[in-house]
Amino acid sequence: MTKPLFGGIEAGGTKFVCAVGTGPDDIRREERFPTTTPEETLAKAIAFFCAAIDEHGPLSAVGIASFGPIDPKPGSPTFGYITTTPKPGWANTDFAGTIGRALAVPVGFDTDVNVAALGEQRWGAGQGIENLIYLTIGTGIGGGGLVGGKLMHGMIHPEMGHVRLPHDRQADPYAGHCPFHGDCFEGLASGPAMADRWKQPAEELPAGHPAWKLEAEYLALALVNFICTLSPERIVIGGGVMSQPELLPMVRKRVQELLNAYVQSPAVLEGIDGYIVAPGLGNRSGVLGAFVLARLEGE
Ligand code: ADP
Ligand code: ZN
Repeated sequence: MTKPLFGGIEAGGTKFVCAVGTGPDDIRREERFPTTTPEETLAKAIAFFCAAIDEHGPLSAVGIASFGPIDPKPGSPTFGYITTTPKPGWANTDFAGTIGRALAVPVGFDTDVNVAALGEQRWGAGQGIENLIYLTIGTGIGGGGLVGGKLMHGMIHPEMGHVRLPHDRQADPYAGHCPFHGDCFEGLASGPAMADRWKQPAEELPAGHPAWKLEAEYLALALVNFICTLSPERIVIGGGVMSQPELLPMVRKRVQELLNAYVQSPAVLEGIDGYIVAPGLGNRSGVLGAFVLARLEGE
C-alpha cells in the first residue's frame, strides 16, 4: 500500500512555505513565496498543490501552520480564519475554508508554533515528549506546544509572545515595540525590537555585544514563567534571532540562575543542554508539522 500523501503550508507574515510529501525524507515538492495579499498568496498556494496533485496524485489532507491570531476551534463559525491580525489585508481571512474548497480535501488548521511543536515531536528534537513547548523568536515571538500529548488550545490559543516581563527601565530604557502592549515579551525581545533598540539589524549585532546579554535575560525570564506554569518536559526554541550562537547557552545559564534550584528536576539542574534546545528540523518544523496535522485531520 502506498503511504498517504499530505500537503503542508507554513504561513508566515513574510513568507509562505508549501510542501507535499509524507515526511522529512520524502518531500516531493516544495515552494517558498512572499506573503502578499490573501487573494494572491492563497491563489499561489492552491496552484502549487494543483500542480503537485497532477504530478504525484491526490492528497489525503492539508495541514496549515498559520501566523495569527487565528480561530483554531472546530465548530466555531470562524474556524480556519485568521482573525484580528494587524497584518494589512489579512484580518478576517477564511484561510482553511479557501484551501479546503479549492482542493476538496480535509484541512487541519492551527498556529504556526503549535504545528511546529507537532513536527518537532514527530521527527525532531521533541521525540517521545508529551509536554513540549515550541517558541519562535523572529519577526514576532510566539509559543505553543503540547500538554499531555495534545495541542494547547483553550479559549483560543496560547499567546506566549505577549506575556509581561519585569522591565528595568534604567537598565533598558527602550519603550518596546508591540503595537498592542508596548513592552510585552515580543515588544522587548523580537528581532525588530532588537533592531529598533540598538539601531542595527539583529543579525549585524556581533557576539559579545550587550544586546545579547539583555536578550538572554528577557528570554530566560519568559522561559522561567513558562516552566513554572506549564512544567514542560522540553523547550524547543527556533526563529531567526536564535541564529546567534552565543544566545542559547546564555539563556540556559540564566534560566538556571533565575530558578535558583527551586524546580527539582534533573532536566533543569543537570540536563539543561538537553532541556532547552534548538529545533531538530531546522527551519522545516512548521511545514513538516503541517504534514502531521494533516494526518490527524485525515484520521
Ligand atoms: P519570521 O519570524 O518572519 O518567520 P525569522 O524567524 O527568520 O522570520 O526571523 C526574522 C528575524 O530574525 C529578523 O528580525 C532578523 O533580524 C533576525 N535574524 C535573522 N538572522 C539572524 C542572525 N543571524 N542573528 C540574529 N538575528 C537574526
Ligand atoms: Zn504584545
